[in-house]
Amino acid sequence: MNFLEERIQKDGIVKEGNVLKVDSFLNHQMDILLFEQMGEEFARRFKDVEIDKILTIEASGIGIACIAARYFNVPVVFAKKAKSVNLEGEMYIAEVESFTHKCKNQVIVSRKYLTEGENILIIDDFLANGCALQGLISIVKEAGATVAGIGIAIEKGFQMGGKVIRNLGYRLESLAIIEAMDTASGKITFRE
Ligand code: 5GP
Repeated sequence: MNFLEERIQKDGIVKEGNVLKVDSFLNHQMDILLFEQMGEEFARRFKDVEIDKILTIEASGIGIACIAARYFNVPVVFAKKAKSVNLEGEMYIAEVESFTHKCKNQVIVSRKYLTEGENILIIDDFLANGCALQGLISIVKEAGATVAGIGIAIEKGFQMGGKVIRNLGYRLESLAIIEAMDTASGKITFRE
């Protein structure tokens, strides 16, 4: 098991509805030394890739992306979530279905902060069905930029997001991939 899998095993709580709660180190309280390790690991995995900017989504992606950005020495842009506002013009907008909140959000990035030709590393905390990632990918494409890679902290491998994104040809690196988790026993199994 790697450092993140060990931490998930120790402090992660399996909830009903295929939700893993990691509030004690990632989604509410944040363990910055762990974030440093994640940043270092993303930098190692993407060392052969040219990255100009990191794109993430509020809220929980921001902390991870910011620490990772120190290893890539690039700026971070975070997509903002807004509930069905009608914004046009200077914004890139994508519709994203929230896995945890079961609602639709519009995800918004100012046109000022994504430029044609840039190589973008997308970073997020979780990958479940892939809706958040699909939204971010569509925004990068609309900007005429390139998705150079995708870095995820925790992928729930039993949900379809990872498969869909890899099948689309994107380079997706997840630091921990959960193969199965059981609400009753709390048992979490990782992909080898
Ligand atoms: P997706 O769009 O891939 O279905 O879901 C990804 C987003 O939903 C992530 O950005 C994350 O915020 C949230 N999410 C999905 N599954 C989980 C989970 O099991 N635990 C937590 N804490 N967040 C999740």
